[in-house]
Amino acid sequence: MENFFYDIALPLPLRQSFTYQHNDKLAKGTRVVVPFRNRKLVGYVLRKKTNSKIKSIKRIEKVLDEYSLLDIASCDLINWISDYYKAPIGEVYKSFFPPLLRKGNSIDNSIELFKITNLGLLINKDSLKRAKKQFEALEVFQSKKELSVSGLKAHNISRAIVKELEKKTYVEKKVSVKQNPVSKNKINNKFFLKLNKEQLKVYEDIKKTAKTNLAHLIFGITGSGKTEVYFNLIKDCILQEKQVLLLVPEIGLTPNLKAEIEKRFGTDNVALMHSAMTEKERALSWSLINKGHKSILVGTRSAALTPFKNLGLIIVDEEHDSSYKQFDGFKYSARDVAVFKSNRDKIPVILCSATPSLESLKNCNEKKYSLHLMKRRVKNAKHPKFEISDLRSSELKSGLTEYSLGEITKEVEKGNQVLVFLNKKGFAPMVFCKSCGWTPECRNCDVSMVFHINPERLVCHHCGETRQIKSSCEVCFEENLEFFSAGTEKLEVFLKKRFVSSPVFRIDRDNFDKKTLKENNFFPKTSQSMILVGTQILAKGHHIPNLTLVVVVDADSGLFSIDHRASERLAQLIIQVSGRAGREDKEGRVILQSYVPDHPFLEKISTLNYQEIANEILEERENLQLPPFVHHINIHAESLNKNLPENVLHKICKFLKMNETQFIGPKPAIIEKRKKYFRWVLTLKSADRKKIHHLANRTLAFIETQNFINKVRISIDVDPIS
Ligand code: ADP
Ligand code: ZN
Ligand code: ZN
Repeated sequence: MENFFYDIALPLPLRQSFTYQHNDKLAKGTRVVVPFRNRKLVGYVLRKKTNSKIKSIKRIEKVLDEYSLLDIASCDLINWISDYYKAPIGEVYKSFFPPLLRKGNSIDNSIELFKITNLGLLINKDSLKRAKKQFEALEVFQSKKELSVSGLKAHNISRAIVKELEKKTYVEKKVSVKQNPVSKNKINNKFFLKLNKEQLKVYEDIKKTAKTNLAHLIFGITGSGKTEVYFNLIKDCILQEKQVLLLVPEIGLTPNLKAEIEKRFGTDNVALMHSAMTEKERALSWSLINKGHKSILVGTRSAALTPFKNLGLIIVDEEHDSSYKQFDGFKYSARDVAVFKSNRDKIPVILCSATPSLESLKNCNEKKYSLHLMKRRVKNAKHPKFEISDLRSSELKSGLTEYSLGEITKEVEKGNQVLVFLNKKGFAPMVFCKSCGWTPECRNCDVSMVFHINPERLVCHHCGETRQIKSSCEVCFEENLEFFSAGTEKLEVFLKKRFVSSPVFRIDRDNFDKKTLKENNFFPKTSQSMILVGTQILAKGHHIPNLTLVVVVDADSGLFSIDHRASERLAQLIIQVSGRAGREDKEGRVILQSYVPDHPFLEKISTLNYQEIANEILEERENLQLPPFVHHINIHAESLNKNLPENVLHKICKFLKMNETQFIGPKPAIIEKRKKYFRWVLTLKSADRKKIHHLANRTLAFIETQNFINKVRISIDVDPIS
């Protein structure tokens, strides 16, 4: 019998692979079960070795896939990610599979559906009047006709209730196997809108050059109809019987996108992938894409790591969004992975945004990406008008100036909708003692705690710790506490009192659970007058036709930050938020509240000329030699011991013998202590990508020989974004 040796990648935080033996030939990427120490692990075949000198090599215990589920292109991409982001190879392999497959399961391609029977349809549901839950469930079934397991959950129908309905033969269970290969026949041409001149030009320009230029940036103001342009590109790709990857920042926050796509491309031709799905649902989506049974995958960050059967186009919507960057585990940017994949597999990638990242704009300036501008709003809505309200000019009411309040009142009285934007959750972010200056701080982190109501408590926004608030100071015991600066909760309470006749809705992550966000159910569906109070979730893609006024409560955040990206983020945020105003026939206005109303940056933002703002910031970055003109790689060190992180990073610096132009720090993280850990960071920098990666690799090799790795957590962040 023949015997082969294989390098296996194991899902461990180790930058190495392990050798095992097996009698059969195995392809790259095949999942196998191997013994490791006292455990059994699911590993991935990296390569066959010619032979092995090590004696007593353990055997592979079980081969999980008859054929590898990964193609060569995906295996290459995994190698690149591991190399570029300095990530353990096994961890990267793991993230290319859905959780169920990582655990060694296989995919059951059948899904359970509960369908209403003819009897169930005809029966007068009043006969169930006494069984309230069954009555309600039948009502749902009568309107929906069939529900999947997650559909049951979404409508709060328990399995026990379904069983009762099954017993009465009102509902029956069906197991259906999804087996529909990619199909161009599902396209519903009638739902495609006729492109206007500007849209048509972008569409045709991309088509014309797609063979030679793979990377494209559609830089179009909000409402210019970028989505409709890429719908047409998707259509062409499907007509060639190829698949499409559409990356979006957050699924629940992309209103109507799913519905719009399904309308055009067929309900059963679209798969979803995001973190709010169950493991089973994710595995099913993954498998259908992997086998080529669905044409489109719409997903968040991790969808970029899905192996397709026959991918032909990648779209990254809102490409500037920071949620494309993963901060835990191995740190990667899904946008950059998409661009790399495009280049490797010769597939076009389309980045879209009204406020593109500086990296992408720089790539356009250097002609690495093709730039496509869209400057007109489809529905001919006018640009919103900007006004600046001086925060020093009047006494503030929960953070709002008299002027802003007056304008809100006017709009609401006219029956219009108003958005009050504040990027701070909670009731009053700062609590402080007027007698001694004490503020409540988190025990685990170097930050002040934030006061919340309902229930009243202090919450740390970094580690989630909560604690009771007393009526007196914890240090001097005086009853002299002041609640400072407003959060969204306080604004909500205040506005509700003030505007009794219009509804006030608060929209932030505290107020909605994942499920509601996922289903995009949180948006009040009314065109009547209302006031929305919210954090940055409101800034993204929502269409609020009757919105006429946006008030940005604290436009100064970002003007005076030590983070060099703050100004770029502020510009993106304000432009995105103001993109919500006046999208239809009504004119929109934006009030920026500021303590420095003359600040030139605010004036510039008011012009809404993001291209000009971005080019100015780019110029400044070039002069200061900041990213994207130099590359950064951060080495983070964290420990429960206060001094270790700093010492360790100094040791690394000494080893690298760098001169000052090659690094920044070591310095404490902006919040040095977080979740009990002390954190320091050393930034490597270089204009030469090869050099900086070489330096980072040497650093890693050095770290692995050192004892301190048992006491200090080291992590690497390539191309950090903060
Ligand atoms: P963007 O993504 O650039 O902000 P959208 O694609 O959301 O803009 O388009 C804004 C609105 O204009 C949407 O309601 C969309 O349905 C509509 N729209 C887009 N293109 C057209 C078109 N060619 N004809 C009519 N309406 C369009
Ligand atoms: Zn904390
Ligand atoms: Zn005090």
